[in-house]
Amino acid sequence: LFVVFEGGEGAGKSTQLAALADRLRGQGRDVVVTREPGATGIGERIRSLVLDTSGDDAPSPRAEALLYAADRAHHVATVVRPALIRGAVVVSDRYVDSSLAYQGAGRTLPVQEVSWLSSWATGGLKPDLVVLLDVDPHTGLSRVDSRDRDADRLEAESLAFHERVRYAFLDLAAADPKRYLVLDASRPVEEIAAAVARRVDEFLVD
Ligand code: C5P
Repeated sequence: LFVVFEGGEGAGKSTQLAALADRLRGQGRDVVVTREPGATGIGERIRSLVLDTSGDDAPSPRAEALLYAADRAHHVATVVRPALIRGAVVVSDRYVDSSLAYQGAGRTLPVQEVSWLSSWATGGLKPDLVVLLDVDPHTGLSRVDSRDRDADRLEAESLAFHERVRYAFLDLAAADPKRYLVLDASRPVEEIAAAVARRVDEFLVD
C-alpha cells in the first residue's frame, strides 16, 4: 500500500504522517515513512540544491523540475519500490502531485510536460491513496514558524504562487476522486487523523 500526503505550506503533513505511521506500526505492520525531496543520500543533496538557495543561485524552473524528477526517480527505485515489493506500507510526505502543483502550476511550466517527466521518473508508479491536506495559503504560511529555515524562501514566493499551488492540488483531487481524500487542514488534528485512519483501514482489511 502506497499512501502519499500532499498539501501546501503549514498544512500539517508531518504531524498527520507521523500519526498514521504510529497507528500502523501499532498494528504490527511494516511501515516505511519517507519524503520528497530528500529521502536518500542523493536526494538530500538535491534537496539542498533546490531549497538551500539564495537569490540568484536558485535553479531555473526547468532545472528545478528536473532536479525534483531526479530525486523522485532515485527515491522510487531505491526506497519506494523495494518496500512495496516486500509488502510494506509506504507513507510519503509529497510525491508527483507536488511537482504538478509547484513546478507546473506554481512555476507555470506546462503541467502535461511535468506529468510526463514524473511518469518517466517513476516508471508510472502511482499511489493507492493521496491524502490532500487543504489549507488556504494565508493560514498555512502563518503557521510556518518564522524561525524556520524555510521561512525566508517561502516568503519570497507570492501569495498568488501559493494560491495556484493550492488549486492545482484541488483540481488533481477532483479529477480522480477515488484516489484522493481531501481534508480541511484547519480541522482539529485528531479529527483529521481519524478520517485518514478510516480511509486507510479500507485498504487494509485482511
Ligand atoms: O514538504 P516540505 O516542507 O519538506 O517541502 C519543502 C519545500 O519544497 C516546500 O516548501 C515546497 O515549496 C518545495 N517543493 C517544491 N516542489 C516539489 C516539492 C517540494 O517546490 N515538488
